[in-house]
Amino acid sequence: MLLISCPNCGSRDETEFQYGGQAHVAYPEAPDTLTDREWAEYLFYRDNTKGAFAERWLHSTGCRQWFNMLRDTVSYEIQAVYRMGEPRPAGSPEAGATTSPAAGNAGSSASPAAGNSGTSSSPASPEGALK
Ligand SMILES: [Zn+2]
Repeated sequence: MLLISCPNCGSRDETEFQYGGQAHVAYPEAPDTLTDREWAEYLFYRDNTKGAFAERWLHSTGCRQWFNMLRDTVSYEIQAVYRMGEPRPAGSPEAGATTSPAAGNAGSSASPAAGNSGTSSSPASPEGALK
C-alpha cells in the first residue's frame, strides 16, 4: 500500500486517489493549425519513462483536488508532491534538464514520438516510423 501525501490533506491511503496520467502536457497554443497527426500525438502519445515520472493525481475521496506527483516508475518511490501550476521539481537524475512542459522528450527513450508535443518544428521521425 502506498501512502500518498496530498498537498491539502496530508498523508492518505492510495485508495483515496485516482491516477490522472502524465503531468505537464501543455494544451496546444494554436490547435486549429495542428495536423491530424499532431493532434493525435497531443491526445494520445505519452512518455513511457523508466524512472522519475511527473504525473497527475486526483484526491477523489478527499479534497477532490488535482495535484502533481514525481514518482519513480520502477521503485514507486514518491519523490515530490506539488500543486497544479507549479513547475516540476528539479533534482531527479532521470529528469535531465527538461522542466518545460512542452519539452516532453525526457531522455533518450525508445519511443520515437513520445516527446513530440511541440507545435512548429515537428521532426519527421514519427511520420516515417508508423508507415
Ligand atoms: Zn486532499
